[in-house]
Amino acid sequence: MTYDKKTIEDIDVSGKRVLVRCDFNVPQDATGAITADKRIVESLPTIRYLVGHGARVILCSHLGRPKGTVNPKYTLAPVAVRLSELLGQPVALAADVIGPDAQGKAAALKDGEVLLLENVRFHAEEEKNDPAFAKALADLAELYVNDAFGTAHRAHASTAGVADYLPAVCGYLIGKEIGVMGKALQDPKRPFVAVLGGAKVSDKLGVINNLLDKVDTLIIGGAMAYTFALAKGGKVGTSLVEPDKTAYALDMLKKAEAKGVGFLLPVDNLCADRFAADATPVPFDAGAIPDNMMGLDIGPRTVKLFSDALKAAGTVVWNGPMGVFEFDAFAEGTRAVARAIADSGAISIIGGGDSAAAVEQLGFADKMTHISTGGGASLEFLEGLELPGIACLLDK
Ligand code: ADP
Ligand code: MG
Repeated sequence: MTYDKKTIEDIDVSGKRVLVRCDFNVPQDATGAITADKRIVESLPTIRYLVGHGARVILCSHLGRPKGTVNPKYTLAPVAVRLSELLGQPVALAADVIGPDAQGKAAALKDGEVLLLENVRFHAEEEKNDPAFAKALADLAELYVNDAFGTAHRAHASTAGVADYLPAVCGYLIGKEIGVMGKALQDPKRPFVAVLGGAKVSDKLGVINNLLDKVDTLIIGGAMAYTFALAKGGKVGTSLVEPDKTAYALDMLKKAEAKGVGFLLPVDNLCADRFAADATPVPFDAGAIPDNMMGLDIGPRTVKLFSDALKAAGTVVWNGPMGVFEFDAFAEGTRAVARAIADSGAISIIGGGDSAAAVEQLGFADKMTHISTGGGASLEFLEGLELPGIACLLDK
């Protein structure tokens, strides 16, 4: 897959009806009030560009999981209100995604006006990528812009299907995701160091395998590391492990050796007798964890080992916390790695929902080059998979 895609700046949008797939899947409280408008704010540069260049803007998004039926609980009405406040201009809401009201309102748009369609997942055809539904959606517009990275790994009608009927380009959000991550994977500034962690090896099989083809050094922390320790014959106590993945772990160690890729695993761990915020952290050497203890963070010697490896990095890709960062007593490993990445001056890319949350929570968000907005999508990207919502866009 090429990551060199046409953007909104590469086509003439003036006077054209432009369908934009956004990610307005915002968190809401029990009354439906939006509790964080970050996703709406992040969509503004693309919308403002289109408005400023005289496009007739038709926005669409999903919100929650209405599972293919109309459910007022998941209406995009609160998004229309907030977006209108942020843009400083009216944002009309169509009663449905397709159908007479959407058609009438789309056709009546004047240059620079903005219309928001109702939740695309009110129709079961959306997630099935039904061609007739995609065509009806595409018929509202003359151009398609995908700016929803979080759903780009899904071939849905509004994320990929519409591109069968319309010229398709990316907005600024997807443009930045593929610009920074695509460059790192294709032509990284070296040394290229990847840091992987988090809960499960089985979630990251493809990521480990793909990154071993690209990086100079691979660092593994988090619960994943215990499956590697077990594979090497170590004692891991009651740590989270996947015994059925030890053969895979050994394969990956062999692959690294054959390729001359540095492979760093923890040398010590902070452990506890139970999975709890108030448990007392006790350090043990890796592979020597007592039967009644579980590893919940990397230990101090590992912090030093990983930090030293990160110091000289030119590019860092990080996915997966080093420990249970949600518990203060076991957040230090994740914090130290975040600090080492920030201090390295490397191009730094954070992928994965919990990793992004950790970096924000620990106060390092503004020190990173790029925090990917798509959890699942960024993982598939790092796996080297083709993302349908990106593959469908016009090449430069
Ligand atoms: P991401 O969403 O960034 O891809 P994951 O979902 O793979 O990351 O992993 C994040 C979770 O892994 C966090 O909730 C964290 O508490 C958990 N985790 C990290 N280390 C451990 C550990 N040693 N034991 C149990 N859970 C862990
Ligand atoms: Mg996660």
